[in-house]
Amino acid sequence: MEFEDINTVAVLGAGNMGHGIAEVAAMAGYDVNMRDIKEEFVQDGYDQIEWSLGKLAENDQLSEDEADAALERVTPLVDMEEAVSDADVIIEAVPEKMEIKKDVYGDVEEHAPDRAIFATNTSSLSITELAEVTDRPEQFCGMHFFNPPVRMPLVEVISGGESAEETLDTVEALADDFGKSPVRVHKDAPGFIVNRILVPLMNEASWLVTQDEATIAEVDSTTKYGMGLPMGSFELGDQVGNDVSYHVLEYMHEVLGDAYEPAPLLEEKVENEELGKKTGKGFYDYEDGEGVDIPTDEQAELVEKRLLASMANEVAKLIGNDVAPPESIDEAVQLGAGFPDGPVKLVDEYGLEELHATLEEAYEETGHKRYEPADFLTDRADEGGFYETGEDDDGVDFEVIRIEYPGDMVGHVVLDRPHRMNTISDDVLAELSTAVDLLEDDDEVRAILVTGEGDKAFSAGADVQSMAGSGADPIEGQELSRAGQQAFGELESCEMPVVAGIDGYCLGGGMELATCADMRVASERSEFGQPELDLGLIPGWGGTQRLKHIVGEGRAKEIILTAERYDAETMEAYGFVNEVVDNDDLEDRALEVATDLAGGPPIAQKFTKRAFLAGRDDTDAGLEYEASAFGHLMATDDLMEGITAFMGDGDPEFEGK
Ligand code: NAD
Repeated sequence: MEFEDINTVAVLGAGNMGHGIAEVAAMAGYDVNMRDIKEEFVQDGYDQIEWSLGKLAENDQLSEDEADAALERVTPLVDMEEAVSDADVIIEAVPEKMEIKKDVYGDVEEHAPDRAIFATNTSSLSITELAEVTDRPEQFCGMHFFNPPVRMPLVEVISGGESAEETLDTVEALADDFGKSPVRVHKDAPGFIVNRILVPLMNEASWLVTQDEATIAEVDSTTKYGMGLPMGSFELGDQVGNDVSYHVLEYMHEVLGDAYEPAPLLEEKVENEELGKKTGKGFYDYEDGEGVDIPTDEQAELVEKRLLASMANEVAKLIGNDVAPPESIDEAVQLGAGFPDGPVKLVDEYGLEELHATLEEAYEETGHKRYEPADFLTDRADEGGFYETGEDDDGVDFEVIRIEYPGDMVGHVVLDRPHRMNTISDDVLAELSTAVDLLEDDDEVRAILVTGEGDKAFSAGADVQSMAGSGADPIEGQELSRAGQQAFGELESCEMPVVAGIDGYCLGGGMELATCADMRVASERSEFGQPELDLGLIPGWGGTQRLKHIVGEGRAKEIILTAERYDAETMEAYGFVNEVVDNDDLEDRALEVATDLAGGPPIAQKFTKRAFLAGRDDTDAGLEYEASAFGHLMATDDLMEGITAFMGDGDPEFEGK
């Protein structure tokens, strides 16, 4: 079955995942037969699709007409024959029980056309074993969506023991056409990629607490605020459900051996039915207690070391056994679990040699298999890391931005963190500075174009997590502010013209970055704003000083004090955006503007920019004030209140403290 020939997709199971997958397929234009075992179950799934499409339309992510058309493409069914007899691809999302799934495949095989591909959404069962029930193991693979499918970008496409390359290519192309980011998993290994990293991590966290080596507070403070992961380990466990982690772990234990023995603490939680958020209690108490309550300042070195060492070992097993290469592991975990950096990069940066030594030491002390270093880890620790360290042509390694040379003397800087909405971290600031220096030194480059990767965001702002992680320290706050002011200032004072091509969110730090360009071209769908005051902060990367030079002090105050969102058209009227273009034309038009400027007289351009800057009132004094005010705000309760409300999607209640 070639991807181009796919018209009809059957989804089996209209539960949590099934209805979401059906919705995604229908939005992508496929006819969808959604099947469940009872009329009321399919109807329930159908109602949920209708509700979700309505929400998307309400938030302008879809027009009313598109939402109606998508719903019309979904046919709810109970009869298996009707559901699959005309299907090109059959995606199965029935309960996670081997016997149920095997029964379903027996039934499906009877009615499905020979051409149809079978894809299972299983999280932990053996794909190879499931495929054996059918007469077409080569037309069978895993297609593992994440919850909820409508919002989560990752799909792991997993090869079973006999999956044909063509099948995997087709399913990957289909996931891509669904608007998702497929990552190939070359072997049917328990947990695939994301769960294989997350679940043992959760287990190691539980072992640390079981053995009194750390408290839950220390583990979560370290993971969330020290390592900068999106959630504390136990916070995540409670969210996922302790029974779910335990179930996956047991399967790993069974297939992969004692290294995956569940920690008693986790076992206990499951026995006591303290399964997490869904039961009101897990590691945290959501009903009678305060819910998740993670101190920002109880980070422990041992916790970070052990967790990273455990992660390094899993990574080594995945790469060493050819399940997936480093790039795929990093992409999958970033997309599927929202890690700011992938696990391979994290452990490489920490130092594999040290992590290897940590494992050896713990193995010697405890004799527990989970600490036994994988052979491949030992090899790579000697080599200095999993990634081969290659430098690009300029001798500079960029990780979070990219430089492209699209011809005609334009240096194109792409903010390359699409899974994080191109938010700005310390690394982005540092690499941006380096990039500007590099392009200024390059005689072949006479204009800079800055854009964000993907169609969601130019940049949605500062990486709030890394900011919350810097703790309530005024000095660190000032430094953070100055670092951004300075990096963006280099663009502003760079001697050649700079164009920002804005597509999607341009918020907070992202807007302050765009402010430092000389011209701004934006797509119609772009959204602008300086939301810092909603967090109890101020724009700290030049916003209080630079925006007024473009839109005037009146509008600048309005934008900053109201913290409202603005559409591209309004921003054009305010003079911030020079030109608004159709969404599809943004990239071409932004490049065209940059190319035109690159053809201008370099010396006159340089003097023009210098003259503008020289004629400004005392921006430097203003920037200094901004940095110290920003530092001061880092130590206020209002900031914690603002960030907490922001992360929880609630309204902050500021007390002016
Ligand atoms: P669910 O219980 O919400 O839904 C399963 C649905 O399948 C139910 O509506 C049930 O009535 C239906 N069903 C049972 N037997 C059936 C049959 N013979 N034919 C058709 N439908 C049948 O479960 P879920 O959370 O949607 O999980 C489904 C699959 O997706 C599982 O394999 C699970 O491991 C996997 N998965 C779940 C998640 C998650 O976070 N929930 C994430 C990724 C993958």
